[in-house]
This record gives sequence, C-alpha cells and structure tokens, in this order.
Amino acid sequence: MINELYQKALELDKKDELAHFKEAFVSEPGIIYLDGNSLGRLPKKTITQTNDLVLTQWGKGLIRSWNERWIDLPQKTAAKIARIVGAQPDEIFVGDSTSLNLYKLAFAALSMNQQKKKIISDNLNFPTDVYILQGLIEQQFIDHSLSVIESEDGIMVNENRFEEAIDTNTALIVLSHVVFKSAFMYDMAKINALAHQKDALVIWDLSHSVGSVPVSLNDSGADMAVGCTYKYLNGGPGAPAFLYVRKDLQKQLKSPIWAWFSHQAPFDFSLDYQPKDNIQRFAVGTPSVLSLAAIESGLDITLEAGINRLRAKSEQLSEFLIELIQQLLVPLGFSIASPLDVNKRGSHISIRHAEGYRISQAMIKPYDDSKVIIPDFRPPDNIRLGIAPLYNTFAELVDTVERIWKIVTEEQFKGYSNSKDTVT
Ligand SMILES: *Cc1c(COP(=O)(O)O)cnc(C)c1O
Repeated sequence: MINELYQKALELDKKDELAHFKEAFVSEPGIIYLDGNSLGRLPKKTITQTNDLVLTQWGKGLIRSWNERWIDLPQKTAAKIARIVGAQPDEIFVGDSTSLNLYKLAFAALSMNQQKKKIISDNLNFPTDVYILQGLIEQQFIDHSLSVIESEDGIMVNENRFEEAIDTNTALIVLSHVVFKSAFMYDMAKINALAHQKDALVIWDLSHSVGSVPVSLNDSGADMAVGCTYKYLNGGPGAPAFLYVRKDLQKQLKSPIWAWFSHQAPFDFSLDYQPKDNIQRFAVGTPSVLSLAAIESGLDITLEAGINRLRAKSEQLSEFLIELIQQLLVPLGFSIASPLDVNKRGSHISIRHAEGYRISQAMIKPYDDSKVIIPDFRPPDNIRLGIAPLYNTFAELVDTVERIWKIVTEEQFKGYSNSKDTVT
C-alpha cells in the first residue's frame, strides 16, 4: 500500500507547478520540515540581503543608511504584506510583535467603545491573545468582562454561536482566523457582519493564516487585524509583526503608547505629542532594521507564487495527508484533531495520540538512519503537521506517515523520555 501511495505522491509532485519554489529555500537533505507554521524556512536570498545590510549598509553606510535605505523600509514592507492580506498599503503597520500590536489595537478599540463592556474570544485562541485581554481588563478596563466561547469538540466553533454571544453591550471580538492547534478557520466575513449588526468591532489574529490561506481584509469588512511574519511568510525568528486598521477607523483609534515614531514630526524633537493621522500612529520606537530587512525575500516569494495557487496546493497536500492518516494511522489509535472539511481549515493537520509527545521526539531524533522529520507538539497530545505549500512535497507526507506508522508499530517511542524542552 505504501508503494502505491508513494507512486501517487511522486506523480502529484511532478504535476506541481509550484515545485520549483522549494529551491528558493535553504534545506538539508534527509530532513523533512513540517513546522513551517511555527518558524518558516530561510529563503536563500535572505542570506545575501542580510549580509549586504550588515556589511555594507550598516558597516560602511553607518547613519547615512537611515535616509538612503532604512527609513522607508517599514512602509515598503507594509505594502507587500497589504497585497497578501487584501488591504491597502496605508492600512498596514509593520513592527513590534503580534502580542504588542494586539495590545495597542485592543486598548484603542476598548477606549473608543467605552460605554460597551463585553469582550468576546474563544477557548481555541492562542494564549497570548487571551492574556493581553485579561491584562487590559485587570489594569485598565476594570468594568469590562471577557466572555470565552467554548468549543464543543476542541476543534471548531460554529459561527452561529456568535449570533447569541454578540449583544448591544459587546465592544470587541478577538479571534484567531486560523486557530493554532486544530487549524480550524473562521468565516471572517460572517463574524464581521454579525459584529457590525451590533456596532461591535473585531480584531483578527492572522498569524496562522497569512501566507497560507487567502485573506481579504477589505472585502470581508474587517476592522482590525494583527499577525506575524515568521511563520508561513518565512521572515525569520522573531521577525517584526504587523497590524491592520481599516482606513476610516484610523483617526478614531488612539494608540495607548505615545512615542516618537508615531509623532507627526519625530525629528522636530518637540515635547508636545501630536500623533500622526495615519496608520503610523501605531508605531512606537525605532524600527528593527535588521529583522525587517530579513522579511523581504519571503514576502517576494509568496507574492510571486500567488496566494491562490499556494492555497490550492495546500488544500491538495492536506487532503492527501488526511487520506494517508485515515488509512495508516487511525487504525493505530490516532485521531484527527483538525476539521475534515477543507474549507474550514488552514494549512496544518493536527493528530492526537496518547503517546504524542514521545512519538514526536522519535520523529525528530531517530536512533537509526531514518529521515529526521520535524513536526511540533502541542499539549496534551497533539502532533501538528504543518504544511508549507512553498516547500513541502507530497512524497514527504508519505515518508512522514510511514515513519509515524513504524515508530508506533515497532514501539520505538518507548526509547524516548517524556520530559519537555523549553520550546516545543
Ligand atoms: C504565533 C502566534 C502569535 C505569536 O505572537 P508573538 O507576539 O509574535 O510572539 C500570536 N498569535 C497567534 C494566533 C499565533 O499563532
């Protein structure tokens, strides 16, 4: 059976019109990387670009490079991200982390909607998003409350649940567009419409969707969004994040952090704060030039491949992976913890097994000459198989499932410890 599946995979790889993009990334033979949804691969071009930045622009150009090269870099990068998320260039700010950007936007939105006291999220959301909201309530918006919609199956939430949850007292809804554990994908336009019926605002976290699924912020009526660039956009560890605010909302929202890069004229050095009247009012301090420059080639590759073609390949890969899991792994006690409907999920597949952690360790650190396969693990028992359509192949998926099958049937996982590294 494996042989047949492998033949099928090779045919699909041969027909893949995006196959050549794999060559744009640094890779090591013998390693299958299925964690592009946590940290994307290194684009080869990023090496030369960052070398030039460090040696020439910084090393030789010194402070002159600010005017020559760096001062426009955030806007240039924002314009590229805008094309990927269906927004206008002047609706995207690039910088800071996703968490910090969420803090700024949530603070601004709650301040604008002071008379309403309810915030809504769900229990599938990424913890940092929930922490930010909890902190805002404890420190600043003490009359507010957070209402967390509980998923019934731990995988998805039916959008209809928001019809009841959103009422006239609702100020803000904060959700991950694609959720980090199960890959469930919300119908963004539907939630936006439900919120707007009650004059509530929505902030979308796009960290797991940007670069893997088409996002149309403008067309779906989105108010605000945040997201990171080091996952499917391959921007590098800790790369600057971004935020989006719909044009007509920008002047009404005030960043809680008043700092010089959001001032109308930072280099006048006036002691009176005057915020910019555009998206840059959400800037804080000096842009992180080194890591900002490192995002560029990843964005260029995504734009060249085209988000619709990437999504089509991702759908094909994940459908194929589900077929493999159902045939080979479900009989061994695995269950699929992602939506089976391709239209309701992003680009990774979560599988569950009581020995999930030790199985993932055996994949990463084989004690024989098996291929190294890198997924990640999310407690209590989820192995996430991240599919990055820019560089993953169908054959890799067969290898992966065959390897997991072997680890379990030969009980290889028993040779591994259950103690966890700091980053899993
Ligand atoms: C990865 C991720 C983040 C990361 O936040 P940082 O502040 O950039 O560390 C936030 N939200 C979601 C949904 C994520 O998947």
